[in-house]
Amino acid sequence: MPNHLAIQKGVPTSRLTTLKVGGATPELLTAQSSRGLGEALERLSDSPPWLMLGAGSNLLIADEGVPPILRLGEAFQESRTEGTSLICGGAMRGATALRFAEKAGLSGLEPFGGMPGSVGGWAATNAGPAGIDCLDRVAWVEARARTGGRTRRFLPHEISRGYRTSPFRNAWVVEYVAFDLVAGKRSDVHQASRLARDHRLSSQPTGPSAGCIFRNPEGDAAGRLIDEAGFKGTTVGGASVSNKHANFILNSGGGTATEVWRLLHQVRHQVQSQFGVRLGLEVETFGTFTHA
Ligand SMILES: Cc1cc2nc3c(=O)[nH]c(=O)nc-3n(C[C@H](O)[C@H](O)[C@H](O)COP(=O)(O)OP(=O)(O)OC[C@H]3O[C@@H](n4cnc5c(N)ncnc54)[C@H](O)[C@@H]3O)c2cc1C
Repeated sequence: MPNHLAIQKGVPTSRLTTLKVGGATPELLTAQSSRGLGEALERLSDSPPWLMLGAGSNLLIADEGVPPILRLGEAFQESRTEGTSLICGGAMRGATALRFAEKAGLSGLEPFGGMPGSVGGWAATNAGPAGIDCLDRVAWVEARARTGGRTRRFLPHEISRGYRTSPFRNAWVVEYVAFDLVAGKRSDVHQASRLARDHRLSSQPTGPSAGCIFRNPEGDAAGRLIDEAGFKGTTVGGASVSNKHANFILNSGGGTATEVWRLLHQVRHQVQSQFGVRLGLEVETFGTFTHA
């Protein structure tokens, strides 16, 4: 009989996130099927707040007080095409979706070349490179309500979205995304995705990080303010502000979530007192942070 839901206890979240920090979760639930997802939601219905995990590339999880975590398993990593739509399971890595689009000669996802994350995470965070929103490129999103467990297919006009926000975050589990693409020449799709990826590699650090830590304030860039405040290369324990892009905090080896937290608070405090700008977090935090 297939195991629809896998349950592991005490898994360190440093293994589940790109920043590679974070304490152990009491329970990691992996839904191996739609039925398993239903079972997981039922089990979590009396839990304290829990985290829906994608590829863990936008998260800072604390060393203490880590919540239970749910993720989608392999059954949600498949894709298929319908006309010029590419339909992907929520657990599929974005990079894999790009490869499928290229193979199928479908164009539209190239600017996302090199961007980490899962398809479900991209939809939930309305991710994209500067000026581009993932949810502007979907034909529909199919999601399961975190409470009550009903499944719904959202059409683009039913998805209220903004900068890195969507109705799905913390309310729905994104099971499938249909990207609305157009026919293109494979070699052109390949070339454009590669260009996007190379641009990232030249402008962003490659070590363990959660991407940009802070949102850009209106009309300015958080990285510029942090750089001008003199933080490039500043470290707290194993956490350091990148020398390449000041809005990235890296785990330069053995760093803890508490060290990242302390460093980001130092940055925030200094930027506020020097420029009068309060930087908001782009990264999402879970668990208990006690030291500022
Ligand atoms: C080097 C680097 C560069 C980056 N560059 C960019 C960039 O250019 N633009 C950008 O927007 N982001 C960028 N990011 C951040 C990150 O890649 C995106 O936010 C991405 O969409 C997160 O996807 P994920 O699967 O890793 O989600 P996670 O980090 O696992 O989770 C993030 C949020 O999405 C929710 N979520 C994840 N999966 C699902 C699901 N299936 N259903 C419902 N909710 C879900 C989580 O609950 C959480 O609220 C970068 C990160 C790194 C490390």
